[in-house]
Amino acid sequence: MALRKVEGLLAEGAVVTVVAREAVGPILDLEKTQAVALERREYQVGEAAAFALVFAATDDRDVNRRVSEDASAAGVWVNVADDPALCSFHLPARVRRGALQLSVASAGEAPFVVRRLRAFLERRFGPEWAAWTEAAGRFRTALRSLKLPQEEAERRYDAFFDSTVDQKSIRARVPTAEEMDLWLKAGERREPEIEASGFRPKASGLESRTTDHGLRTAGFVSLVGAGPGDAGLLTVKGQKRLHSADAIVYDRLAATALPCDLPAGVDLHSVGKEAGHHPVQQEEISTLLVRLAREGKRVARLKGGDPYVFGRGGEEAEALAAAGIPFEVVPGVTAGIAVPAYAGIPATHRREAVRLTLLTAHESKKEEGTQIRWDLLGADPHATLVGYMGVTSLPVVVERLIAAGMSPDTPAAVIERGTTSGQKTVTAPLSKLAAEVTRAGIDPPALFVIGPVVRHAAALEWFAKRPLSGRRVVIVAPAGDLGAGLESAGAELVEVPLPVTPAAKVVLGALPVTDCVLRGPGDADGLDDERDGPGWDSAKVVVWCLGRPAVERARARGWRNIHEVKAEATTVDMVARVSDFGCTNRLPP
Ligand code: SAH
Repeated sequence: MALRKVEGLLAEGAVVTVVAREAVGPILDLEKTQAVALERREYQVGEAAAFALVFAATDDRDVNRRVSEDASAAGVWVNVADDPALCSFHLPARVRRGALQLSVASAGEAPFVVRRLRAFLERRFGPEWAAWTEAAGRFRTALRSLKLPQEEAERRYDAFFDSTVDQKSIRARVPTAEEMDLWLKAGERREPEIEASGFRPKASGLESRTTDHGLRTAGFVSLVGAGPGDAGLLTVKGQKRLHSADAIVYDRLAATALPCDLPAGVDLHSVGKEAGHHPVQQEEISTLLVRLAREGKRVARLKGGDPYVFGRGGEEAEALAAAGIPFEVVPGVTAGIAVPAYAGIPATHRREAVRLTLLTAHESKKEEGTQIRWDLLGADPHATLVGYMGVTSLPVVVERLIAAGMSPDTPAAVIERGTTSGQKTVTAPLSKLAAEVTRAGIDPPALFVIGPVVRHAAALEWFAKRPLSGRRVVIVAPAGDLGAGLESAGAELVEVPLPVTPAAKVVLGALPVTDCVLRGPGDADGLDDERDGPGWDSAKVVVWCLGRPAVERARARGWRNIHEVKAEATTVDMVARVSDFGCTNRLPP
């Protein structure tokens, strides 16, 4: 212990005296080279007062206490190893990358945590941070010589930082001299990437800012596809855009894909249909996007599935283009392909389907002037027909297809809320489909699949038959191995950070919660306010408490349906317990 401190002090140029009856080899070596003065004896009362800084690291608490009291009486700073009460200061653990120093400290409360965090940072901060810090130093010197007003200077520092640091992976990139030059002259040049994509940001006094992908823009909109519901089907790029957004405008159908750990400061705008609220008109959505972008914000427009597949994303892009707002499209996994896959239906299959049609069934309600070529669709037996927005118009669709020559026995399916814990599937021959859907009480959002590929549904089913399929489980983040176990058993996991973020509240309310895991009393405290929120019916949600203290706290707070699981239960035990408890959203066979 003493050796570590001595080495740290020597590295900083301190003059060190070691007082000890015996010393370990490396300290004897330091004495030989006269790097330290070693005095082989007992500590003498009062002598701490003669030093600028004192460390006590003996295994005798009385000696340590005497040193501490002597030092304190003389106004000398003292640190006693592993004894916060006797310390007047604590040494942080440090990670160094060149001139960059990261310190970790816990005011002596939990040195074991400090050691582990230090090791963690040591692993996560690569060697590149040393050269990066050096470049940052050069950048600062150059910037200071420009003598800009503080605010201007900060903008350029932002440009340096945001363009060179990936905050998620904790990686740094050493910028080239040309890049630094560009940031120093920020505002005088046009942004190259925007030029390349054909946009000319208007210099109409719009607040200019730097995004973390290095673009200088007057606001920027990403039209992001959220995927069909399963949060894991959001693309990597889409997730990046959400994490770096200042504002997110999301549809109800996209809500399950919002990352729960979005910073609390991000502006969340819901524009979807919610019970009791009118949907926001398309025009208002476009106006909102333009307004947010004009405020200089990075905006993510999160839309269910793929933004350009029946999502009116094209109209939003047109509005942005007309307003001169730079935008990009981050495609998503469209429901029409992913949802059948989760129901065991491959969209195409060799020799069975040589064509895949994505159709909006909404159209079919028009008596006159429909653009759908029922005649062609009905006459093609080697095709898969996927219909979006098709629950209410299903009887009309079936009638038209049969009238156009499709066999009434063609295999067909309707899938509600595919890829989520709310997934329900009905399969039937085409002529019986509408009646079966009514019988099963299928509600939107749902899509239909018609064609020979639907025949595979039973044999290729994989999602609905997992033991925790249909369960939507709330757990406090990080969910760790237990979370991974529940998820691979088929549960939809809502991993809620504490304190609960606004994004997590949206996600919680997006679908009914079926279960909640409390790993300790703190979880019950942290989630207490959510029990009455949307998506959470406390009469139905099953609460799994790991260990007595969690049970007691949950009871004290009035939680219901509490089940105790032994604190030392393994993930396998836990999955077995939860899946034995039969409450799912699944339909009876
Ligand atoms: N842009 C979206 C579709 C928007 S239209 C996409 O690419 O997926 C909305 C329709 O999509 C719904 O009425 C429903 O027919 C379908 N849909 C979206 N998500 C679905 C899901 N999880 N399960 C079933 N149908 C879904």
